[in-house]
Amino acid sequence: MSETAPDILREVFGHEAFRGEQAAIIEHVAAGGDALVLMPTGGGKSLCYQVPALLREGCAIVISPLIALMQDQVEALRQLGVRAAFLNSTLDGAEAAAIERELREGTLDLLYVAPERLLTPRFMSLLDASRIALFAIDEAHCVSQWGHDFRREYRELTVLHERWPHVPRIALTATADPPTQREIAERLQLEDARRFTSSFDRPNIRYTVVHKENGNRQLLDFIDGHRDEAGIVYCLSRNKVEKTAAMLVEAGIDALPYHAGLDASVRAANQRRFLLEDGVVVVATIAFGMGIDKPDVRFVAHMDLPKSIEGYYQETGRAGRDGDPAEAWMCHGLGDVVLLRQMIDQSESGEERKRLEHRKLDALVGYCESTRCRRQVLLACFGENYAGNGPGEPCGNCDNCLSPPETWDATVAAQKALSCVYRTGQRFGAAHLIDVLRGSESERVRQFGHDRLSTYGIGTELDARAWRGVFRQLVAAGLLEVDTEGYGGLRLTADSRDVLQGRREVLLRKEAPRPARGRARDGE
Ligand code: ADP
Ligand code: ZN
Repeated sequence: MSETAPDILREVFGHEAFRGEQAAIIEHVAAGGDALVLMPTGGGKSLCYQVPALLREGCAIVISPLIALMQDQVEALRQLGVRAAFLNSTLDGAEAAAIERELREGTLDLLYVAPERLLTPRFMSLLDASRIALFAIDEAHCVSQWGHDFRREYRELTVLHERWPHVPRIALTATADPPTQREIAERLQLEDARRFTSSFDRPNIRYTVVHKENGNRQLLDFIDGHRDEAGIVYCLSRNKVEKTAAMLVEAGIDALPYHAGLDASVRAANQRRFLLEDGVVVVATIAFGMGIDKPDVRFVAHMDLPKSIEGYYQETGRAGRDGDPAEAWMCHGLGDVVLLRQMIDQSESGEERKRLEHRKLDALVGYCESTRCRRQVLLACFGENYAGNGPGEPCGNCDNCLSPPETWDATVAAQKALSCVYRTGQRFGAAHLIDVLRGSESERVRQFGHDRLSTYGIGTELDARAWRGVFRQLVAAGLLEVDTEGYGGLRLTADSRDVLQGRREVLLRKEAPRPARGRARDGE
């Protein structure tokens, strides 16, 4: 074989030049080296093993956890004239046998397999009888117990190294917070592999976070700026996916639902429409999007808080893969935080796992409430120092850069809020506390005798919306916490005392003025 990597890139894949680290990675793997590749979604990971697969003798074995992704990739490769195939549970016995024969006979360039298939004794001995160019382990973060995509079989992939020590391995992922990176290297015995870390910055994506007032209205206003463009709207529950999709359709938007509760045929049809037609908006749970390669997704909107910053970054990374301007928009409220905290505590996970998930949620809430450049905050979570506009310079393409938030001295308001929490017994949510502070005559306030408290009616200087901002930010700052064992009421924390006793000042961000168009009412 005398072809070079640039020849293959041009002749087979039709691209002019390698991007970023691709050339270095390909050279390293083609020469037989192990590699751990950390590259954001859309960065071009596939070529990093596809080109070496064509440069080296034998067939490359690609381990991928996602059947849909496998099929798409194989189809795309075949169209380019590459001899690619996949082995997974969708094939019948005869089809699988035919592909196994091709592998043995050496007429395949790439074979995609699901990990559980790879690990069968039958497949192992088939590999023994075949010539293997390399092993590519895609979505390598699946090996991490802390990730949201944990796959038990990934833990057993060390067998590849043990059984075929001379075959190069390349592990790839777009999830790269430092603990996950370490875990991948350890679990896959890739400590000595060369590590290729690309910048995770996606400069064409504009990040915006808004506070939930009337989520549907806010979403419609946002999508108004993206008429007839393709986008993804993420919601936490299937029920909300359905409702949101119906709401958008009613507003004249070509929206389709996507979640695991839908018939496989409906899901496939909706996904196909999204991929093939212009201007379709998919409303989905996070199940949607893994491996979806649609370059012109112009926006990703989150109607609910995602579970972690890594998840958020991966989901928003599906926007703007073509490099044109795209938007990542999120609408969040205190209610989301309460709900997610309850979900964590009521899950079956062990204590350590729950603590970790709470910490991840803390980081995400911190991101939402931050007054700093969003890009700097996000990239810092991946261990990266953003320096796109020069060291320390903000990005100029996020809401906080474009209209810097103002802060105000909220020490007195915080003291009032915290003492109201204390006087009402640390078991009520923000809505009730705001009623008490604002001296509401509501039945509930009277029923609990809260109209007789010293904190009743001491907060009329702020409206309910402003108070919601205060409570939300106090939770984000760790000055209040959500009681997830009870009904999600707010409790004081160890740090609250310093504020109550006047030893600590509280600066909060001013809530952005309501959009002028806002037909929004004080909902939620
Ligand atoms: P990832 O797996 O990292 O999310 P992909 O491998 O799917 O990314 O690549 C994302 C998109 O970028 C694809 O449409 C791919 O064809 C394109 N791409 C990758 N590398 C190059 C390149 N060197 N030149 C042009 N396009 C590229
Ligand atoms: Zn910025």
